[in-house]
Amino acid sequence: MSFDAVIIGGGINGLVAASVLARGGKKVCLLEQSGHLGGLAAPGPDGGARMAHLLYNLSPLVRREIGMDAHKWPFKLTPVSTVALNPDGPHVVIRGQKAQLADGSAHPEAEAYRQLNGQLIRYADILRGLAEGGPLGIEGRLSSISGLKELWRLGRIGRKLKRIDKSEMRRFLQMLLSNAYDLILDDLKDGPLAGMMAADAVRGGFAGPRSPGTVFSLIYRMGHGGEVTWPEGGMGAVVTAFEGAAQKAGVDIRLNAGVARILLAGDRVRAVETTGGDVIETKTVLSSTGALRTAHMAGVDAFDIEAARRLRNIRVKGTVAKINLTLTKPVSVAGLTDDMCPARLVLAPTAEYVERAFNPAKYRQMSEAPVIEALRIDAQTFSLMVQYAPVDLDGGWTDAAKDKLRAVTLSALAPYLPGLEDAVAQAEVITPDQIEAETGAPGGHWHHAEMALDQLLTLRPANGMGRYAMGPEGLYLCGAGAHPGGDLMGLAGRNAARAALEVGK
Ligand SMILES: Cc1cc2nc3c(=O)[nH]c(=O)nc-3n(C[C@H](O)[C@H](O)[C@H](O)COP(=O)(O)OP(=O)(O)OC[C@H]3O[C@@H](n4cnc5c(N)ncnc54)[C@H](O)[C@@H]3O)c2cc1C
Repeated sequence: MSFDAVIIGGGINGLVAASVLARGGKKVCLLEQSGHLGGLAAPGPDGGARMAHLLYNLSPLVRREIGMDAHKWPFKLTPVSTVALNPDGPHVVIRGQKAQLADGSAHPEAEAYRQLNGQLIRYADILRGLAEGGPLGIEGRLSSISGLKELWRLGRIGRKLKRIDKSEMRRFLQMLLSNAYDLILDDLKDGPLAGMMAADAVRGGFAGPRSPGTVFSLIYRMGHGGEVTWPEGGMGAVVTAFEGAAQKAGVDIRLNAGVARILLAGDRVRAVETTGGDVIETKTVLSSTGALRTAHMAGVDAFDIEAARRLRNIRVKGTVAKINLTLTKPVSVAGLTDDMCPARLVLAPTAEYVERAFNPAKYRQMSEAPVIEALRIDAQTFSLMVQYAPVDLDGGWTDAAKDKLRAVTLSALAPYLPGLEDAVAQAEVITPDQIEAETGAPGGHWHHAEMALDQLLTLRPANGMGRYAMGPEGLYLCGAGAHPGGDLMGLAGRNAARAALEVGK
């Protein structure tokens, strides 16, 4: 059995990489260890949202390149309003760039928010240029087609930068390296609106809003316009659409087919061996699991000592636990009308609250006043992201620790969702260690590796491996651990596949 390329893992990036390669004329096999596709975005039994629940960053470029409709997604996307929960007054409702109070009155900082948000979206547009391709830099001959294409891309980003005047450029560069806390509180008073922005800046990371580089991650989330959407039919509809694209492109998808080893001939990929002992011949492997796990599959001898050290030092501490709640009766949000569904409720009353919530994670403790992103799917179904729940919890994620996390979460939400605690029929608590055990995502981390300044662009996953190729010839990283990182975006898979196609030319 032989293929031009084998993809390890059927999450969003694996599916995209497989489609791009197959559409590029390659015979492709995708091997997924579990019995289903989707990885961190795999739906729950009802098709809803088991882990990932919202779309912040799906790339329209990916949609076109995997052969979906050029203009629209094959599932309906509903824009979701964000509600920044306020313990001391009316909640703040944010729709696009507009912030107002839940009682319909104007928010005193609506204009300041609009301006700050607009500025971040403009900067995000520049970063998008960096994400839609390998990290910048011209390698090889300028006279080659790929060298010229890269030069053209640099020029396009340069033109966007030129549109920014000198003082704004200074602010852009300062902002990129600064922390979200200072940036936000320069323009807004510390309250629910500031707290919501601070929470978005650190969502999924082992960082508080005062950590350096958190403005970068805030801007990153806005790369495709900053709109938060909910797919009708839940994540099931999204995964089915990406699976359909891969099948249409001719990808051979195999489930329950974990890869145990990547086999080499000298310094070159020769085949993969599944956990069931099947050997599939191929000269190209794209892996969407973590970088270090991938290196172990190939055998660390295939990496020089420095590369192996860098891979071991990648920071991957997951901090987000997922709680899926099913209720026995409808529960309303105090101070909101019931027709606001789905709604994204953010419990982060101030930016300071978010920073304080992070502190315990540094000492391997869970936050007892956590930051929560609660998606109210309908009046009886809630999907909760709870941060900070560190993967390496002191004492481990025992049943008692999970019960505590569940209790802390419900009691934090209780003032805003009266009657919630009594209405819980079922609460599925999924902690980062479990996420890692189920999917292989290193540390159960949202992005497979921290999105920190020293782990971005050409430094992602590690210095010397920033162009998707790693270790032996023919091996590529195509998951969230590669540039430009995670979220349901698909760009890492697309970029890695293009890098592999380029080499095969
Ligand atoms: C709790 C949580 C909630 C999140 N919520 C959101 C959200 O709401 N919105 C959003 O945009 N992003 C969200 N994210 C981030 C987003 O889900 C991920 O960044 C993205 O799904 C990563 O996709 P991937 O394909 O790179 O990796 P994964 O989704 O991790 O897929 C990797 C796949 O590889 C398979 N695999 C691993 N090892 C092997 C092997 N040896 N052989 C074969 N197969 C293997 C795994 O089973 C898995 O299917 C969330 C992440 C977490 C942890």
